[in-house]
Amino acid sequence: MIKNNVLNILKELPENVLLVAASKKRSYIEIQEAIKAGVTIIGENYCKEARSVFERIGRAVKWHYIGIPAKEKHDLLRRKSLEIFDMIETIDSFEFAKEIDSQCGKIGKIMEVLVEVNSGKEAQKSGVLPDHAVELIEKLSILKNIRVMGLMTMGPGFKAAEESRPYFKETKRVFEEIKQMSIPGIEMKYLSMGMSNSYMVAIDEGSNMVRIGTKIYENS
Ligand SMILES: *Cc1c(COP(=O)(O)O)cnc(C)c1O
Repeated sequence: MIKNNVLNILKELPENVLLVAASKKRSYIEIQEAIKAGVTIIGENYCKEARSVFERIGRAVKWHYIGIPAKEKHDLLRRKSLEIFDMIETIDSFEFAKEIDSQCGKIGKIMEVLVEVNSGKEAQKSGVLPDHAVELIEKLSILKNIRVMGLMTMGPGFKAAEESRPYFKETKRVFEEIKQMSIPGIEMKYLSMGMSNSYMVAIDEGSNMVRIGTKIYENS
């Protein structure tokens, strides 16, 4: 089941689009099955889970942190967690980035990060407001142990994928604006947007990294 789900999704994705398997609360067995079918990037929301699965899977895949930092900031800043992750997709403040920068400096690692944009401007969601993204990214460019590689957004949750389109469009607009600025040390390479119910619309609006959980791990 997982195998077919992954194969179907990979077939559907344009060549330039990366698949991140959002694997929160999935067992090692399930994740292993997804990897066997061709998944090369695992997205984890919880550091404790990530550490336990990483112990068994290791560097066979890339590891992206896609959780909400505020909730488990402390855990993410631990050396053991930072060593696992190849990318942190959810940077939403200078203070948080600075702490990651400082910890990464201690372990001699340059962490790739994405800045999370709160494209729906929702009070309960994390991420920087679209209008504040430029300012944050300019500040981040001075940090030596993190490298900004692009933007990520969730957007408000909808039943119909079409409703997500304006939020993806807005994030892409900010992405292009920052790209045009050619800020030293900032690479606008990845635009991470789109989940199980919305990834085709997200790709249509310029996403090149989709984070898919349900559609990989559950019966379709
Ligand atoms: C769970 C999760 C996803 C995947 O959501 P699905 O609807 O299950 O595909 C994507 N991004 C983040 C940040 C998540 O936490």
